[in-house]
Amino acid sequence: MSPRRIGVMGGTFDPVHHGHLVAASEVQARFGLDEVVFVPTGQPWQKSGRTVTKAEDRYLMTVIATASNPVFSVSRVDIDRGGQTYTVDTLRDLRAEYPEDELYFITGADALEQILTWRNADELFTLAHFIGVTRPGYHLNDHHLPSGKVSLVEVTAMAISSTGCRERAGRGEPVWYLVPDGVVRYIYKRKLYRGHQPGPHGA
Ligand code: ATP
Ligand code: MG
Repeated sequence: MSPRRIGVMGGTFDPVHHGHLVAASEVQARFGLDEVVFVPTGQPWQKSGRTVTKAEDRYLMTVIATASNPVFSVSRVDIDRGGQTYTVDTLRDLRAEYPEDELYFITGADALEQILTWRNADELFTLAHFIGVTRPGYHLNDHHLPSGKVSLVEVTAMAISSTGCRERAGRGEPVWYLVPDGVVRYIYKRKLYRGHQPGPHGA
């Protein structure tokens, strides 16, 4: 059997929004991926000076958002490992889970800029092919990255961020149509992001 092509979409997903879903969908179609696995990060104690929503809530929102797409799935590897997530651990675990398959790690332009600062950066490129996608407000380039290991893809511009969604929800403004309907309802049901205050870095 020929190897399957597996996309990996890592993120905090606090909350998951249509920018994540459009990026994953367009890369899936462009690269003929058999599956895209969304991997919510473990529970860091803080990210940019703010408390991150509980892993189980972020996991369930990601499941709700992806459930209707037959080629999307959600992995608990980073949540179950616990603590700070390093992409090298994510990819090692998924490589063990899909030993015969090709992994394609999907990342937005902002995250791609940072990649060489990630733990075990050299090893990352042996574990997966990287796909950088455009994101409004960021410049997408691979000049700093090893040649042949990264593809750049233009996706439909979605000027949506989780930070923006949290801030809107915190001010009592709607997040309808920025995130899937089921995620809006989950945010209300669990009273997430109530009274959200921007952190020192705006996150
Ligand atoms: P936050 O504002 O909390 O950082 P975020 O919107 O950046 O949230 P993340 O969970 O940090 O979402 O992002 C996960 C991955 O999705 C990253 O690779 C990021 O670059 C990418 N991404 C997020 N939003 C978009 C978007 N609107 N368009 C393209 N890629 C995106
Ligand atoms: Mg982000």
